[in-house]
Amino acid sequence: MYEKVDSCPICSGQAFTNQLICTDHTVSSESFAIVECDQCSLWITSPRPTSDEIGRFYESDAYISHSNKGNNPINIIYKLVRNYTMKKKTQLIKSYVSQGTVLDYGCGTGDFIASCQANGFTVVGVEPNEQARTQANLQTGNRVYQDLESIDNKEKVDAITLWHVLEHVPDPLVTLKSLKKKLNKGGHMIIAVPNRDSYDASHYKEHWAAYDVPRHLFHFNPLNIKDLSKKTKLKQIDTIPQYFDAFYVSMLSEKYLGHSFSFIRGILNGLTSNRWANNNHNNYSSLIYVLRKT
Ligand SMILES: [Zn+2]
Repeated sequence: MYEKVDSCPICSGQAFTNQLICTDHTVSSESFAIVECDQCSLWITSPRPTSDEIGRFYESDAYISHSNKGNNPINIIYKLVRNYTMKKKTQLIKSYVSQGTVLDYGCGTGDFIASCQANGFTVVGVEPNEQARTQANLQTGNRVYQDLESIDNKEKVDAITLWHVLEHVPDPLVTLKSLKKKLNKGGHMIIAVPNRDSYDASHYKEHWAAYDVPRHLFHFNPLNIKDLSKKTKLKQIDTIPQYFDAFYVSMLSEKYLGHSFSFIRGILNGLTSNRWANNNHNNYSSLIYVLRKT
């Protein structure tokens, strides 16, 4: 079953304009439309699978954030880069929060919170996927829950991270508002999402791998995140590039296009994308937004 999104979750606008038709290259090979909210410019996958149906679109070994399988060259590089970026992410947290509790929302197999734990933080995770959650609980000593409501109400945290998660949730504003309640005053919310205003997005158009329909329900640009921060009354304090995403996303996009030498082409396009972003308002392929509860 599919549902049309009638009302924009950020601005409640009800008029939309068609933008792209994208194909699900990972699981179903089905096509999905992306529409733009006429009022606030948020891009939305609509119609989209209902919440009862979306699960089957995550059932693939290729969906590597939930499993550690898959040994093609792109996956091997992905894992090497993941180890490096894990260190960088932990350093990033430390630069804002010296100690306390980190909540990772949509923690997958728990690699990030395990790394935070090893660096002296108390951790808690939320992961709806049972298989990923089991692995995350093994890594962290049972610190991972199925949903936010299962965490003790009294437990407040100093940082909340959403590493490429916000684009998957059915209502980003509702999610951010309920997460904010868990945050101590002065605490940080760190949100990484793909940037549809990047060079690689405009270069690959409907073949841009980071549209990842129908798993990505929303496609943000920096303006949309600014609107979300305002609505949640969180202060945006930093925007940080994720340099590797330009390469990874370009390689996958080349693969989806059926091009030969997708690896090399992806590297070259990733370089172009990062260079372009440096001169164009930091519009990198993916961005990390740092917000603070004042
Ligand atoms: Zn809107």
